[in-house]
Amino acid sequence: MMTNNIFLKILSGEIPAKIVYEDDICVAFHDVNPQAPVHLLIIPRKVIRTHADIVPEDAPLLGHIHTVAAKLAKELGLNAGYRLVLNCDEQAGQTVPHLHFHLLGGRNMAWPPG
Ligand code: 5GP
Repeated sequence: MMTNNIFLKILSGEIPAKIVYEDDICVAFHDVNPQAPVHLLIIPRKVIRTHADIVPEDAPLLGHIHTVAAKLAKELGLNAGYRLVLNCDEQAGQTVPHLHFHLLGGRNMAWPPG
């Protein structure tokens, strides 16, 4: 099911993406199938399959990604709010086996999520 890590191909430049931010630790790009007016994916360069595989040494990386998410949300004008989503494994709807945060904004959102 989750075998094709398409995000590795984006990281290597093998397939194109609309990249909005990148540094040594992470890359942020527009989701190909946006679910909100703003829908970015923020991924680590380090290969981490899913949230359940995070180890204590990943703490700085994760903190950094959150800092980048907050900075991008500000830059994109999401002053009214935004949602940061992480789907872990099949039951949560994860389809790409590379840790990623969805940064969604620009519309009202419902709770609970589907
Ligand atoms: P998940 O369902 O695993 O939490 O999220 C995977 C996300 O990756 C989906 O929102 C999907 O639209 C996005 N996605 C899948 N393949 C590609 C791609 O090749 N390029 C981009 N930019 N996004 C992709």
